[in-house]
Amino acid sequence: SEVLRLSGVSKRYRMGENTVTALADANFVINEGDFVAILGPSGSGKSTLMHLLGFLDSPTEGEILFEGKPVSVLTETGRARVRAAKIGFVFQAFNLLPRLTVRANVRLPLSYNPEPPADADERVERALASVGMTDRAHHRPGQLSGGQRQRVAIARALVNEPRILLADEPTGNLDSHTAASILNLFKELNAQGRTIILVTHSPEIASHFKRRLHVLDGRIEERFA
Ligand code: ADP
Ligand code: ADP
Repeated sequence: SEVLRLSGVSKRYRMGENTVTALADANFVINEGDFVAILGPSGSGKSTLMHLLGFLDSPTEGEILFEGKPVSVLTETGRARVRAAKIGFVFQAFNLLPRLTVRANVRLPLSYNPEPPADADERVERALASVGMTDRAHHRPGQLSGGQRQRVAIARALVNEPRILLADEPTGNLDSHTAASILNLFKELNAQGRTIILVTHSPEIASHFKRRLHVLDGRIEERFA
């Protein structure tokens, strides 16, 4: 089923007298179970696209539909609620809290919920197990390798059982061996049915994806595997 749809989406930034078109007339659909790489040189519009996909920003033109409903009709609070419940974010810099244990870091998204789910403990353990970090649950981020920290960040993104996982250069801070192991983890999660969109600079990493969206000067071109 359909998760996200971009229909004639453009994003322009006003720079004094000039207008920068960061994204021009984007049209594509993300379905459940998709495994999509977003590729493109620096400044091509990848971050702009990811911000729009996570409704962290609004398009200048066009419409974004999440689960068939236009995001534009939601209030800022409504968008934040849908984002927290349905979208998992993974970043290049991991963004873990150093004073908290691995388990507490993974639990954080559930703590922001005014009424944490009754199965919160089970969700945390499931998320830890799905990234192979159960035996490090009591460690702190500083005691882990880069690859292990990214696994914890992925577990944190999964703990709400989101509809879609958005990963912005998740292997950008990792050596090639560790990057390959994180790529394998994303592949396993996709094989289990997770919908994943991942930004990468690496053509080698992108070559493992079922769909590839190339961004060039704000224009998106899809190339199939
Ligand atoms: P990428 O992530 O591929 O490096 P971006 O989406 O960050 O590309 O940027 C796309 C274009 O939009 C670039 O020309 C960039 O300078 C411009 N841009 C991005 N964010 C802003 C902003 N907040 N204000 C003005 N221009 C911006
Ligand atoms: P690094 O290379 O930085 O030590 P990795 O990402 O390779 O980190 O591995 C981190 C932890 O995840 C290790 O404890 C490893 O045993 C475990 N691991 C590695 N690959 C997988 C996998 N495909 N599935 C589950 N756990 C894994």
